[in-house]
Amino acid sequence: MFQGDSILTQPIEYMKGVGPVRGELLRKELGIHRIGDLLWDLPFRYIDKSEISTIRIAKTSMEPVQLKGKFTDKRIEGTGPKKRLIATFEDSTGELEILWFQRAKDIDQWIILGKPYLIYGKLQDFRGKYNIVHPEIEELSQETVSTGLEPVYSSSEKLVVRGLDSKGRRKIVKQLIIQLRPHDIPENLPEPIISKLRFYSRFDTLKKIHFPNSQEELTKARNRMKFEELFFLQLMLLRAKVKREETVKGFVFGEVGHVFNTFYTKHLPFSLTEAQKRVMREIRKDMGSGHQMNRLLQGDVGSGKTIVALMCMLLAADNGFQSVLMAPTEVLAMQHYKSISELVEGLDIKIAFLSGSITGNPRAEILESLKAGRTHILIGTHAVIMEWVEFAALGLAITDEQHRFGVAQRAQMWTKSPLHPPHVLVMTATPIPRTLALTVYGDLDVSVLDELPPGRKPVLTQQRTEAHRSKVMEFVRSEIKKGRQVYVIYPLIEESEKLDLENLQDGYERLLGIFPRPDYQITVVHGRMKAQDKEEAMQGFKDLKTQIMVSTTVIEVGVNVPNATVMIIENAERFGLAQLHQLRGRVGRGADQSYCILMTSYKLSKTARERLDVICKSNDGFVIAEADLKLRGPGDIAGTKQSGAFEFKAANLVEDQAILKTARMIAEEILTRDPALRAPEHATMARFLSTEYKYKQDWSRIS
Ligand code: ADP
Ligand code: MG
Repeated sequence: MFQGDSILTQPIEYMKGVGPVRGELLRKELGIHRIGDLLWDLPFRYIDKSEISTIRIAKTSMEPVQLKGKFTDKRIEGTGPKKRLIATFEDSTGELEILWFQRAKDIDQWIILGKPYLIYGKLQDFRGKYNIVHPEIEELSQETVSTGLEPVYSSSEKLVVRGLDSKGRRKIVKQLIIQLRPHDIPENLPEPIISKLRFYSRFDTLKKIHFPNSQEELTKARNRMKFEELFFLQLMLLRAKVKREETVKGFVFGEVGHVFNTFYTKHLPFSLTEAQKRVMREIRKDMGSGHQMNRLLQGDVGSGKTIVALMCMLLAADNGFQSVLMAPTEVLAMQHYKSISELVEGLDIKIAFLSGSITGNPRAEILESLKAGRTHILIGTHAVIMEWVEFAALGLAITDEQHRFGVAQRAQMWTKSPLHPPHVLVMTATPIPRTLALTVYGDLDVSVLDELPPGRKPVLTQQRTEAHRSKVMEFVRSEIKKGRQVYVIYPLIEESEKLDLENLQDGYERLLGIFPRPDYQITVVHGRMKAQDKEEAMQGFKDLKTQIMVSTTVIEVGVNVPNATVMIIENAERFGLAQLHQLRGRVGRGADQSYCILMTSYKLSKTARERLDVICKSNDGFVIAEADLKLRGPGDIAGTKQSGAFEFKAANLVEDQAILKTARMIAEEILTRDPALRAPEHATMARFLSTEYKYKQDWSRIS
C-alpha cells in the first residue's frame, strides 16, 4: 500500500531473518513482495493467551480450545503416505491424543517430550477416545507468555518447513513493527475524520492490529481499517462518477416526439405503475441532461422493466438515435423481440433481431440496415456487441439481466458510438442488497421499480418431499383442468451434467405416465438443445399447445407466460436463493393465484433448510437478496465476482454495513465540497487514492 520511501518499500528478502530463500517463498506462497506487505497481510485470528482451557473441560465442549501441557509420548506409525505421528498430550486434568498425518517426521523431530507447549485445536471424539488432528502448536517459552492477544498468521506447508509458521511470521512482524517510526506509515485520512470517528492514527492502527493489548484495542484498530477500505473505495467510485459527469458528454434526447406519444396514448396496453412513471422521469432527466446516462434499473421479477426499456428506446428514436437491447440468452432475446414487435406494430419503427444463430444473408441484411440507419432498434444476444456490428447513430444501450454480462462486454458498447458513448441502462431482476449495490455499482445511478403491476397475487410457496409426490401431481392435474400451465424445473450443473440430464429425462417420462397423450401435452427444454428447437418448444407452451414444460434452468430469466400458475422445482435444495426466486418469478404473472412447489429430499443440510425457509416465507426480492448475502457471503452474489470490489483485508460487506454507510456519507460530503480533491487538507487523501486505487479505477470506469 502507501509507504513512501522507507524500509517498507524494500524487497522482502532484505528483511532481517528472511533472506533470499524465504523471501522467494513468501513471494510465491503469500504474494508478499516488499517488506511492507508483511504489515498488510493481517492476522486471521488472535489467540487470547489468558484463555487456557483444560482437557477435562475441553472434552465436554466441542469448540476449539487452547490447552497448555506437555507431551508424554510420541510414536510414528505406518509408512509411505499412511505415515502418521501420534503423540500423547497431558495437562493436570487428563490426556488426549494428538495426530499428524502430514509432515510427521518433521514434527516428530521438533517436539520434545516433557517441555511445555500451547496447542490450539478442536477435540474430536473418535470411538470414545479423544484426539486433536493437526492442532496449531507452539513451544511455551518466556517470550510467548504475554498478556495481550497474539496474532495468528496464515502459512503454508512450504513456509512451515522454512520456519515461517505463524510463530515464525509473528517474530518477523514484531521485529519490523519495533523498527517502524510514524513517518513510515503516513496518515491517509484527514484529521477531522480521524477525530470525529475517534480513530487511532494509521500508524497506531497497524501496530495494534498486529499486536493488540486487548479486545477493545483490536476492535478499534480493525474498525479504522475497515473504514479505510470502504471509504477509499467509495471515494474512488464517486469520483469516477463526478469525473464522468464532467468530462463525458452525452447525447441530448430533448424531444418527446411522435413515436413516443403515439405509443403512450394509443399502444400502451395498460397504465403504468407509479414506480414505472417515476423511473421514466428519472431516466428522461438523465437522457436530456447532456451527460451520458449510466443507470442501473433494479426491479423484481414481473415489475415491468421491459416496457420501461421500450419507452426509452422510442425516445431515442424520436431523437434520431438507434438503440440496442441485449439479453443473456437467445430465448429471452427472442421473447423481447416478439413482444416488443407486437407492442410497436403500426408505429414507424423498424426492429431487428440478431444472435449467433443468424448467419449468411439475413445477417448481412440486418447489419446493412443498421449501418444505414434504417433499423431503429436492435434486439439480441451478445452478438449485438461484436465488433462487426456497426450503427449509424447508436444513442442508447440497454442490457437486460445484466449480471450475466461481464464488465468487458459492457465496455464494448462504448466503442460503438464515435462521438459520445451511448446512454447506458442496465436492468436487473436480481435485487442487489444496498451494501453491494453501493460497492459494485457505486458509480451508477440507481432506479428501483418497487411496485408490481396491480392485481398480482403473491405466489404461494411450499416445500414437499417424495412422500407428497402423488398429492402434488393431483394438484397439477386440477390446475391443468382449470386451463392453467405448469413448469417442472430440474437442476443442471456442468459438473454433473450427464446425470442431471438423465434425471430430467426420467422425470419427463414419469410425467408422461401420469399425464398421457393425447389428453396432455408435455414438452422438454434444456440447454443442450438447438436454439430453434428450444424456441419452438417455448412458443408451443406460450400458445397453450402444451400444458407442462419440463425444463432445466434455461427458462430462469425473463420468460413470460402469464397463464402458467404452477412452478415445481425438483431438487430445490440444489438451487441458490437468487435462482429459486428467479424461477418462481416465472409464475404469478397473471391474475390467477400461482403456486411454487419446492421438491426436496427428506434430509437437508442446515443451509439448505435456511434457504428454503426464506423462499417459502418471502416473495420480496430484496429480503431474499439480503438473506442470500448473509448465507453465502458477498463473493458469490451474481455478477459481482469479477468486479474485484471484494478484495478487502478487514472489511466484510455482511457485517460492516454501518461502517459502509458512514464511509459513503463522508465520501459524498467531501466530494460535494471539493470534487477534484484539490484542497490542501485533502492532498494526502488524494495522493493515496491515486497511487493505491489506480488499478481499480480502470474497472469502475467501464461498469
Ligand atoms: P420484468 O421486470 O420481470 O422484466 P416484464 O417487463 O416481463 O417484467 O413484465 C411482466 C408482465 O407485466 C408483462 O406481461 C407486462 O406486459 C406486464 N406489465 C408491465 N407493466 C405493467 C403495468 N403497468 N400494468 C399491467 N401489466 C404490466
Ligand atoms: Mg424481464
